[in-house]
Amino acid sequence: MAQLTDDCFAFSGPLLPLDDMERLIGERVAPVAETEQVPLRGACGRVTATDIKAPVDLPPFDNSAVDGYAVRHADLRANGDSTLTIAGRLTAGARTGVALDPGQAIRIFTGAAMPAGADTVFMQEDVTVDGDRVIVPKGLKRGANRRLAGEDVAAGQVALPAGTVLEPQHIALAAALGIPKIEVRRRLRVAIFSTGDEVVEPGSPRGGAAIYDANRYLLSELLERLGAQVTDLGILRDDPDALAGALQAAAAGHDLVVTSGGVSTGEADHVRSAVERIGSLVFWRVAIKPGRPVAMGVIRGAGGSAAFVGLPGNPVAVFVTFVRVVKPLLRRLSGARPQTLVPLPVRAAFAYRKKKDRREYVRVALRRAGDGELEAVKHPQDGAGILTSLTETDGLLEFAEEVTAIEPGARVGFLSYAALIG
Ligand code: AMP
Ligand code: MG
Repeated sequence: MAQLTDDCFAFSGPLLPLDDMERLIGERVAPVAETEQVPLRGACGRVTATDIKAPVDLPPFDNSAVDGYAVRHADLRANGDSTLTIAGRLTAGARTGVALDPGQAIRIFTGAAMPAGADTVFMQEDVTVDGDRVIVPKGLKRGANRRLAGEDVAAGQVALPAGTVLEPQHIALAAALGIPKIEVRRRLRVAIFSTGDEVVEPGSPRGGAAIYDANRYLLSELLERLGAQVTDLGILRDDPDALAGALQAAAAGHDLVVTSGGVSTGEADHVRSAVERIGSLVFWRVAIKPGRPVAMGVIRGAGGSAAFVGLPGNPVAVFVTFVRVVKPLLRRLSGARPQTLVPLPVRAAFAYRKKKDRREYVRVALRRAGDGELEAVKHPQDGAGILTSLTETDGLLEFAEEVTAIEPGARVGFLSYAALIG
């Protein structure tokens, strides 16, 4: 089920810039084709397969935005109070078709249909009632407190474009339009592996030189949050044949296979060569820190093929390359539109030096400085294996390729973890 074409995708340069990588994904990766109709409940996180047009106006009819009195603006005096006769009462859900004659007002409540002839509503707090008459002040604009049919969405307009990742507010909009089911693309099937002779499962005995597996847990949570169906295929030894066999088997039933570890240039790093045996690599180094060795390619399995991403081993590098490499690929495969995350401008509370021509991500906590500005404080430990540098911070600063030095006080761009993993 490969959606990734491996022809003319190969990248031979030393380090692939992130923008080029995203462009390649957009050009070369096709979304899964299968779609299904799902009920609104449970549709959150799914990706719309088609433009969804409004079958009705929203709101469906002109109605009052407040509790008060509906009037004809033409009846009102410009220079003083106006006195009108209360001719009826309309609550939300009450019949429509009530009409207002000149000189009349109608007691109306929020959500009730505007009576014919009325165009303006006074809030009840602003009027004086005297028996069957209401005295209203001057100065209210025509159309005040009236909600027009279709002012939110007009019938026939696209309410939810194709490629929308459904969030609670999108579900609410569909419901308000009376749409009970949505056509979405099928969920992605993603297989994950960890690699490394030193890596063992939490809860199992750990030898002196072993570490517990953090990456499979990180990846499966990140992937599920993005709506994927995850198959956890465990930990693979640093053995070229075992790697190739397991990857090939995984390719058959999945759209994407993600591994961590073993993609560097060390003698025990066999993931790249395994992929080259059973498929092809598209690139394996991206101009990003942390995380430079990231491999992307295609694996051909019996009865199908899958896209492949090999992430670095260090958990912080896994996190950063996931949000910057796997997530765009996953969104593309799932049919979602590319996401543009707008970094929030904050003030750097530290100095920083970086190499040109690579995108860098720095883990920071936010604090409110004495002058009220938001300040980003760098975590004291910046090793790519330091998991607490992720748990004790709020997000990442993103430093562009051309930047080489940041001085304290500089304006920098902050991306919250919530935004990055959502
Ligand atoms: P590698 O790229 O395989 O050389 O791994 C780089 C570093 O990440 C090494 O210190 C590994 O022990 C560590 N590492 C690899 N896989 C995992 C994992 N699943 N969980 C935690 N650390 C890992
Ligand atoms: Mg390794």
